[in-house]
Amino acid sequence: MYSTEKPVVKYRKDYQPSQYLIKNTNLLFQLFDDYTLVTSELKITRNPLDNRETLLPIELDGVELELVSIHLDGQVLDDSDYEKRAHTLIINKVSETFNLTTVVKILPHKNTSLEGLYTSSGKYCTQCEAEGFRKITFYLDRPEVMSEFTVRIEGDKAKYPLLLSNGNPVDRGELTDGRHFVAWHDPFVKPSYLFALVAGDLDCLEDTFTTMSGREVKLELYVDKGKLDQCRFAMDSLIASMKWDEQEFGREYDLDLYMIVAVSDFNMGAMENKGLNIFNTKYVLANKKTATDADFEGVERVIAHEYFHNWTGNRITCRDWFQLSLKEGLTVFRDQKFSEDMQSAAVERIDQVKIIRAAQFAEDSGPMAHPIRPDSYIEMNNFYTVTVYNKGAEVIRMMHTLLGKTGFRKGMDLYFDRHDGQAVTCEDFIKAMEDANGKDWSLFRNWYRQAGTPVLKVDLEKLADGHFRLNCEQSCPATPGQEHKNPFMLPIKVGFLNNTGHPVKFAETNDAAGVDETLLVMTETKQSFDIYCESDSLVPSLLRDFSSPVKLEYSYTQEELASLFAADPNPFNRWDAGQTLMTQMLMSETSKLTEDELSVVDNAFIKILNDEELDNALKSLAVMVPELNSLIGMSDNVKLDQLFAKHKQLKVHLGEKLEHTWFSIYNTTSGDTSGDRWLRNTALRYMMIANDEQHFELAATQQTHADNMTDELAALQVIANASEGYRSEYIEQFYQKWKEEELVMDKWFTAQVVNDDEAILEHVKALLNHEKFSIENPNKVRAVVGAFVAGNTSQFHNPTGQGYEFLADIIIQLNKINPQIAAGLAKQFNQWRKFDSKRQALIQEQLVRIKSLDNLSNDVFEVVDKSLQ
Ligand code: ZN
Repeated sequence: MYSTEKPVVKYRKDYQPSQYLIKNTNLLFQLFDDYTLVTSELKITRNPLDNRETLLPIELDGVELELVSIHLDGQVLDDSDYEKRAHTLIINKVSETFNLTTVVKILPHKNTSLEGLYTSSGKYCTQCEAEGFRKITFYLDRPEVMSEFTVRIEGDKAKYPLLLSNGNPVDRGELTDGRHFVAWHDPFVKPSYLFALVAGDLDCLEDTFTTMSGREVKLELYVDKGKLDQCRFAMDSLIASMKWDEQEFGREYDLDLYMIVAVSDFNMGAMENKGLNIFNTKYVLANKKTATDADFEGVERVIAHEYFHNWTGNRITCRDWFQLSLKEGLTVFRDQKFSEDMQSAAVERIDQVKIIRAAQFAEDSGPMAHPIRPDSYIEMNNFYTVTVYNKGAEVIRMMHTLLGKTGFRKGMDLYFDRHDGQAVTCEDFIKAMEDANGKDWSLFRNWYRQAGTPVLKVDLEKLADGHFRLNCEQSCPATPGQEHKNPFMLPIKVGFLNNTGHPVKFAETNDAAGVDETLLVMTETKQSFDIYCESDSLVPSLLRDFSSPVKLEYSYTQEELASLFAADPNPFNRWDAGQTLMTQMLMSETSKLTEDELSVVDNAFIKILNDEELDNALKSLAVMVPELNSLIGMSDNVKLDQLFAKHKQLKVHLGEKLEHTWFSIYNTTSGDTSGDRWLRNTALRYMMIANDEQHFELAATQQTHADNMTDELAALQVIANASEGYRSEYIEQFYQKWKEEELVMDKWFTAQVVNDDEAILEHVKALLNHEKFSIENPNKVRAVVGAFVAGNTSQFHNPTGQGYEFLADIIIQLNKINPQIAAGLAKQFNQWRKFDSKRQALIQEQLVRIKSLDNLSNDVFEVVDKSLQ
């Protein structure tokens, strides 16, 4: 939040254990129409880990709290006994153990930051991670302080029949004036960031789950009235997650009750509060009519993610926020494994890697680059990043690759045995993996220390007939604060094709039996690996399944890439070969693609589309031209205008050249599975690129008659991007049909802002005034502003600079309303030094304008300040 206090940098090296701990936390919430009173009784003791000589004054965190009263061991405190500053309450004289009682007044209705206690369409809810609890009451708001919570909530019974908090309900009753109360007790100690409260009038879907030891757990999914028909899938996903964690990791749920509440106003995807998850509606509500196939996958993934946190995050939590990847990297890895088991593993892996390349490589090459365990931060909310989450998951995945499934499980078991009930560090996790498997991973730790994307350069040398050598060299560019990098430990999964494009067996020593695939482990800057194989020449299939999060450099010829694309038995690398082929062409120095280049791609596509072995989901992925963001994210210097032109040229060519193929795919593919729908809609997209007038009716019919949102939205999207004159009628039709469904309205907004048309920005601005838009709702901001900036790359970067000015205007507006969302948008400028000098100057001007604001939040300040350095 913004305040008059100067931004302070916090360093990991300065960590000191808290001098005090809070054994018991007893809270009373009295909800009134325009304010809430919070009474907190804390049993505080000295931390046994503290070895300071003297007892210092206790500094409690507290932000935007009106202090009503304060008692120490039952005695009113004099003004001179404590000092209230903007972000802390300091009590000068305390003893080794004492009870502190405070009463504060807060204003949830006015809280637009969506952090702390706030209201969302008529109900109260909380968001406390990372440091939101301090907006509820004075507290030691840091994750190593784990406490046993008792909570009593009082409110109007008619308006808030439901009063929920963590753990189990232990008491309830009536009060005067139509009010009632419910009391909760959570038997598991937890840090404040896992606290939650919900009050409202909601519908509930109930179910049960019987755990592996035979305990019955009540499952309750709470949603706004009238939405029960969009809950079944989320509930089934929860049940599947609970089963999977038992089967794969032996982890059983611990409380008798598991609640999920869906709210429309939420900064992130969801939150793992103990026994009471709070979710963005986007990751709960889904039925065939309102949600696309991709939405269903998102619900399944996020439900699993939050459930998995119960063990990796809640039972074992983080000692301090620098350790965030301890819970997030690990939990993302677990949800990825779950999705791989539930869906197609290859498709899932491709989606994961696309995120790394488009967003994480970008972050790693920009001004906010940080190791998965950051060394410093100003505002912790800025570090819920693709680096901490997704690269963090890649690092855990490398451990899994190096140890194998059984070794990894042994390490996890030891980690749970050792640390259950504790707040620990990334180092503790690595240690458990090492100890359980008898390894020394000193070198592996560089993944936790160093930022930046390593570059792995490989070439293949032929030494003699049947004897080859892979020469590998790794390097890592400098990142802010880290000039010199040490080598990383890189697991490199490889296989080979021969010169006729067939997979071949090979060996690592002269006399060994041939294998299809092996794992090379690189530990030095330069290293060579011998390969024995009876073949005249070999095409290496390197870094299979993206076995390390690096940029691979190998000078493949177009023919070699085409042969890998046609026949690599590893589905991930097969897809990747196609992407590399197109990337090489799109990023080369030429201003246009040649006829030869175009025909290499269309021939390769035809082979893919005719391959009867390949499933339709993989086909759809294979025939997608790499996204602009991913191309920008992966490179250090980008000629944007040239890239846009070639990108368009390639898409138009593929649409036109293969028009008959797309048409026949469209007409012969059933729409029965998600893979079928995906391929069919991919075909429709290419057809419309080729000739939108001719195929318009097809799209219009599809939109009108679709019985599922995947097809209906795909049609709307191509229509919204067709020539002006056709589109408005169908945009209006969709609106009239869905205007009461908020989440569908988000899709409707997004469909309209990705049109590559000069006039689009005016339309985007007009949408901000639409009655269904609200700047205070993060989903809406993401649907319009986020989608324009990240999804309409060419118009955001329009050479006039008006896209940049627009984004800056929104950031300035949101800085006051919701700093977290504002800062997230400000990160969209972070790639600016990759562009031409004209665009650099235009972006710099906007960054300077933002930075010069009075009342700049710490969140936005940190992003723009780093960007300008
Ligand atoms: Zn998480």
